Amino acid sequence: MILILEPNTDPDRPDYKVLVSQLDRLPGIRYRVHREVGAEVTLTEVYLIGNTGALTTEQMSILPCVEKVVRVSEAYRVLGRHKQGDTRAASFEYNGVRFGQDTLNVFAGLCAVDSPESVEAMMKALAERGQACTRMGAYKPRTNPYAFQGYGAKCLPYVFELAGKYGIKVIAMEVTHESHVDEIREALAKTGHPTGVMLQIGTRNTQNFELLKLVGRQQEFPVLIKRGFGITLDESLNAAEYLASEGNRKVVFCLRGMKTNMGDPHRNFVDFAHVPVVKRLTRMPVCIDPSHSVGSRAVAPDGLLDVFHTVAQGVVAGANMVLVDFHPDPAKALVDGPQALLLSELDHFLADVALAREAYERRVALAREQRPH
Ligand code: PEP
Ligand code: MN
Repeated sequence: MILILEPNTDPDRPDYKVLVSQLDRLPGIRYRVHREVGAEVTLTEVYLIGNTGALTTEQMSILPCVEKVVRVSEAYRVLGRHKQGDTRAASFEYNGVRFGQDTLNVFAGLCAVDSPESVEAMMKALAERGQACTRMGAYKPRTNPYAFQGYGAKCLPYVFELAGKYGIKVIAMEVTHESHVDEIREALAKTGHPTGVMLQIGTRNTQNFELLKLVGRQQEFPVLIKRGFGITLDESLNAAEYLASEGNRKVVFCLRGMKTNMGDPHRNFVDFAHVPVVKRLTRMPVCIDPSHSVGSRAVAPDGLLDVFHTVAQGVVAGANMVLVDFHPDPAKALVDGPQALLLSELDHFLADVALAREAYERRVALAREQRPH
């Protein structure tokens, strides 16, 4: 059960103290308070855990400071979309960019940072097209221990400085260890916070619970969590819930295909039919990663790359973010060159995404007309 308190409830207020003392006296109930400090309002939610079946919504809604009571289903307590009266926001803002179940942000960029020249060429191309987000891998978890592992902390200063130069507001960047988060924080501080970072949890770490807890405990950076490549959707959504249960609810969920040869010849079996499913079960914005799903630059007879087709499938179904590999010179890319799109394809790509988004918006409008609620 969640008690949503009146906006800006001050914990020093006497009636808040009364609320706390009443909660302390509930038998078999523990509770956890989550405070979300926004620019204008501070929202407080109290999560009641334990024998909440014995409590009634009416009984809890008359407690001091309580504005609303939401009864939650067992699954995804914080991030879930619960049936009874759950009007909690399905969006958040980070570094001036809004991420919600109603928005669409494209994160085109390098799978792995390989040189300042590649980073600059990518960011310049994005800035010229009004894009505010990108992907830049500094820490690369690789199957082969002898493969390039990413430049790590060494590349962060120039990546951040160039982002500042080109007005890039958010960079999606995978982390696999606590020290990576510290290195990112330090590099941002040293360069004067020219940009923001969305920490990415890769598919190989979806169920690395200790990493999830660590990343969940900080609220400075939002998190992009990838679906585990070989586990159920429910297991991956529970992994996302780990982040939120530790306090960080600025979480985006990313579909990136499933590992099975049923998806051949694609690198992974494209699972973008789950975009609306994740939006129905949770309040997370949903990202699609067509590059790691398809894994190649294969072209269909109609002239469109499979990567373009899968992006359109996800966007037409309401995806909120697209994470996609580009490279100024894919032949020289140190990771995943064969699936990278070319800078000369960026205009076409963005126009194709806009078409699919327009189709989605028209489909939603049509559905509203047909089934007014
Ligand atoms: C990536 O996005 O660079 C990546 C490694 O993806 P995934 O974790 O989905 O394999
Ligand atoms: Mn990659």
